[in-house]
Amino acid sequence: MSKLLLKNIYKVYEGGVRAVSDFNLEINDKEFIVFVGPSGCGKSTTLRMIAGLEDITSGELYIDDELMNDVEPKDRNIAMVFQNYALYPHMTVFQNMSFGLKLRKTPHEEIEEKVKKAAKILGIEDLLTRKPKALSGGQRQRVALGRAIVRNPKVFLLDEPLSNLDAKLRVQMRTEITKLHKQLETTFIYVTHDQTEAMTMGDRIVVMSDGVVQQVDTPTTLYEDPRNVFVATFLGSPQMNIFNVKLTKENDLLNVSFGPNKVAFNANQNIELIDPTKVNEEVIFGIRPENISLAKKGIPAYIDQIEELGSEIILYLKIEGIDEIVTAKVPSSKDIKAETNVFVEFDMSKGHMFDKDTEMSILGVKEFNSFDISIKGDTLNINKQKVKLPESITDNLLDIAESEAKKLSISLNNTSLVEVPDSFSIKTKVVELIQKNECNYLYLKAEYNDEYIVVKTDSTKFKKDEEVLVYLPFKSISVEDKMRNRLNVHDRIYKNSAICELKNEGDKSIITIDSQKLVFNKLPYEDGKYNFVIKSDKAKILFTKAFVKDEKNREYVEPINSLKCSAYDEEKSRTFNVIYLKVKGFENYVTLINKEDFSVYKMPEFRIQLDENSFLLESCE
Ligand code: ADP
Repeated sequence: MSKLLLKNIYKVYEGGVRAVSDFNLEINDKEFIVFVGPSGCGKSTTLRMIAGLEDITSGELYIDDELMNDVEPKDRNIAMVFQNYALYPHMTVFQNMSFGLKLRKTPHEEIEEKVKKAAKILGIEDLLTRKPKALSGGQRQRVALGRAIVRNPKVFLLDEPLSNLDAKLRVQMRTEITKLHKQLETTFIYVTHDQTEAMTMGDRIVVMSDGVVQQVDTPTTLYEDPRNVFVATFLGSPQMNIFNVKLTKENDLLNVSFGPNKVAFNANQNIELIDPTKVNEEVIFGIRPENISLAKKGIPAYIDQIEELGSEIILYLKIEGIDEIVTAKVPSSKDIKAETNVFVEFDMSKGHMFDKDTEMSILGVKEFNSFDISIKGDTLNINKQKVKLPESITDNLLDIAESEAKKLSISLNNTSLVEVPDSFSIKTKVVELIQKNECNYLYLKAEYNDEYIVVKTDSTKFKKDEEVLVYLPFKSISVEDKMRNRLNVHDRIYKNSAICELKNEGDKSIITIDSQKLVFNKLPYEDGKYNFVIKSDKAKILFTKAFVKDEKNREYVEPINSLKCSAYDEEKSRTFNVIYLKVKGFENYVTLINKEDFSVYKMPEFRIQLDENSFLLESCE
């Protein structure tokens, strides 16, 4: 067993170079993982942090559930193979391979046995008495691998191990390392800048750029479903054509237009927009060279240049409405001549579209189903249907949900076609079944929902317009405001309520909670006891250091009308944090919405600032 977990890993080098940002990855036992990306993107740094050769600035590294951050490299049971094999020139191959074991005081017979076994695996048994200078590049690389194998490590780390070899040997060693991985049945992490190595060797590939993981997936999925422009253009040679188009929709069909050209996606091409607001906008369109073909009619193009590759030809095309040269890869033919006019066709089922600003893919299967909703008390209005919410939801619903709740969202994985306990159902009709990445996705339409509902299914037996019920388990639903902040939070929500004493004096009302005093302009209440209820989205949080200064601007003075408090818990949402605070006089913790960008945990002391709009007084009978 050797699985790894990298959680929120950051590396900032002295001097402030941020080499790796928020790296998250689970690596399975026996997996072959490849880190790929351009030079300087943080691949080696990540590998070296796993090996323990670099400190982790923040985040956690686990190997087999054991936290490794502070474990010495030698105690991690990891072997690393470098680009420069780092063999000792004065030692024989046998001595080089056995050196580490000797240091660990392994018995002589055991060393002998392990080295011979590794040499056999690598086919270098005849070389054991030679010195490195009498070896070829490929042989040296095998010795370096052998030195790692004899240690029988839990994890192999390989940092560009083939980059010093010539092209032919590289291809050969590639297959050998893949075979070795199968034979050793150990987890491999392999770093390379070479996309072909990544695509041919990895079970899964981690594509990195600028210290940030761009996408983690199998080679096929990365190639067919890149999440963003970076991944789309990094993998594939010649690279994917990328150009600006206008996206429109006519009779339910999506079209892209550029210059005088307009190309439609076919109705049955499984095209779903993750973000429907992009219709009538300019977007980035992507199509790989092999998905452009010559045709009798279609898009007029001018062949500017051709490049013969034997069985294929690369065409460099000029197309009206596209500023960039478009490349196409087509089967070789004598009829293709440079500097001629032709027609080309795009295979739109292989087309990609990306947001112009974020460069993220806007096509594909969405991850969440969402519904327009409203909430009143414990009643959820969804699709003109009323659903009584269980306490598990209402107990954890922020008080702003009644005014703010707009969307209900639920991940595809939790949207079910079979009845599940503690769920409610919605009536839908089958639109179509789509197969993608070895999964069946059933697209459904509910009567009052604009968006499709997508469900993963094993069955393929569905008829168009057939009625099906979709079950939404309460425990998996997320109630959200229009900014997609989650309003049914993880902690229990209590009313932010404390008993207070109100006393009117002249034109002021003085409210005492426990021993803390608040003074307001006269409030329309009689003297007496009340429940003081803080509105979660109206109170403000102040820190000691942000307290207002006195008139001479020297001393920090205590802000008026504020309650002392301390942190209890905090929960992140998209555009705000939900904070749970302990405040004297309040029976339970107080829950507030903090729209500022800070964590209350980091604040030694702070206060809740209140004004007339941030609380209610309720009778306390
Ligand atoms: P890669 O392996 O993807 O080529 P590296 O992990 O080696 O990239 O480097 C990532 C970034 O960190 C680069 O900007 C590099 O210059 C920087 N870097 C690497 N090592 C150090 C170091 N010891 N001190 C400061 N910066 C470093």
